[in-house]
Amino acid sequence: MRVENVDLLVIGAGMAGLTAGARAVRNGLSVMVVEIGTDVGGSARFAGYAWTAPSHDVMDQHNPSGDTGLRRALVDRFPEGVAWIRSLGVDIKNAQRVLSFGRGHQFDTHQYVDTCRRIVAKAVARCCWRRVPNGWWSRTGSWRGRS
Ligand SMILES: Cc1cc2nc3c(=O)[nH]c(=O)nc-3n(C[C@H](O)[C@H](O)[C@H](O)COP(=O)(O)OP(=O)(O)OC[C@H]3O[C@@H](n4cnc5c(N)ncnc54)[C@H](O)[C@@H]3O)c2cc1C
Repeated sequence: MRVENVDLLVIGAGMAGLTAGARAVRNGLSVMVVEIGTDVGGSARFAGYAWTAPSHDVMDQHNPSGDTGLRRALVDRFPEGVAWIRSLGVDIKNAQRVLSFGRGHQFDTHQYVDTCRRIVAKAVARCCWRRVPNGWWSRTGSWRGRS
């Protein structure tokens, strides 16, 4: 059995995994993204907004059992997240009211996950692709369950 060493192993190529993978590649890390499905993107394929609550109080009120650190990050680092999406050239609109309490930006989630996938795949191309019976993988890149 061949052992692969990577800086970051991501299980699941949804929005979270692809974001982690693309950001890691942009930071010069070697990445392997493992996806069990026949396509990447997960439920982001059905989403349309990047959104947050306007304050910690409002976030806590509407999401009382969520992880505290993540709730804080979603409020405090939201502008950074929007800037990251924009930096990829993804179409993202100006902020608008979302639900009754939040604010968010409509953006093209298909374009976003496909762009992240391309960033990871491009890093793979600099390395090598290896076909395996059920899909493909590489030292720095992605693996897809079924080809
Ligand atoms: C209809 C709908 C609309 C939504 N609208 C919005 C919205 O407008 N704004 C918003 O912020 N959020 C929205 N959401 C929620 C948002 O889409 C999700 O919170 C987000 O996309 C979740 O991303 P994720 O990467 O954490 O998980 P997922 O999207 O669930 O991705 C997980 C990935 O991991 C893969 N996987 C699972 N198990 C394994 C395994 N064992 N090995 C390898 N791979 C595995 C799955 O196949 C999948 O590709 C919406 C969700 C839905 C369903």
